[in-house]
Amino acid sequence: MLVDSHCHLDKLDYTDLHTDVADVLQKAQARGVTHFLSVGVSMDAFPAMMAQIAPFDNVFASCGVHPLDIDSGFDLARLTEYASDPKVIAIGETGLDYHYQPEQAEAQREIFRQHIRLAKAVKKPLIIHTRQAREDTLQILREEGAEEVGGVLHCFTESLEMAKEAIELGFYISISGIVTFNKAAELKHVVSELPLERLLVETDSPYLAPMPYRGKQNQPAYVKEVAEYIALLKGESYETVAQTTSDNFFRLFCANK
Ligand SMILES: [Zn+2]
Ligand SMILES: [Zn+2]
Repeated sequence: MLVDSHCHLDKLDYTDLHTDVADVLQKAQARGVTHFLSVGVSMDAFPAMMAQIAPFDNVFASCGVHPLDIDSGFDLARLTEYASDPKVIAIGETGLDYHYQPEQAEAQREIFRQHIRLAKAVKKPLIIHTRQAREDTLQILREEGAEEVGGVLHCFTESLEMAKEAIELGFYISISGIVTFNKAAELKHVVSELPLERLLVETDSPYLAPMPYRGKQNQPAYVKEVAEYIALLKGESYETVAQTTSDNFFRLFCANK
């Protein structure tokens, strides 16, 4: 068993690379990937994503507006409606990204707060995107009482200190294919220091394919390379990493189902 805790199944290439979502899932299942969380990034794309994944019981969803997509619109009433779908097990992705759009920091912070309030109202954990906004991310999580629902800091590339503070707030840390990149020395160190019981694995596909697929389009099947690399870093067996990160996923997202 292995779970891809963060992918964008609606954004993969269905003209050349894959025939449809069933094809993508089959390629992943052939490598032991059993469950998937397809993450929403905008209001408008959500209904079509849900239609695509509807036939598959082993595909979960989240709804949210990505911090780099806030220009596409944010509608709390509609998002609340999306959040009530039984397939939706999390709120996000939401958060702060000061790397690409620092000029929108203020708007990002406000919409991030609204996601946290919604997550608390519907009692579903948060999927958080955070880049070059360590202080503000942690401060808003604390101020809004995000601890009540918990969640995950996805595609983590920040410091060990930030990871530890997030874990103290009851959050998990999700590791993507970036960990396999030669340049990612700090992230490798972070992974080696954090307890396996607080880690998830993800592809963030179609982005960020791990080695040896770097440069190609990513897909959920490649989450296996991420888990294998973590096993190597931590001196654990692949089976232990696969089982523990899967257990973590279900504890976080499906505990009250
Ligand atoms: Zn993200
Ligand atoms: Zn993402």
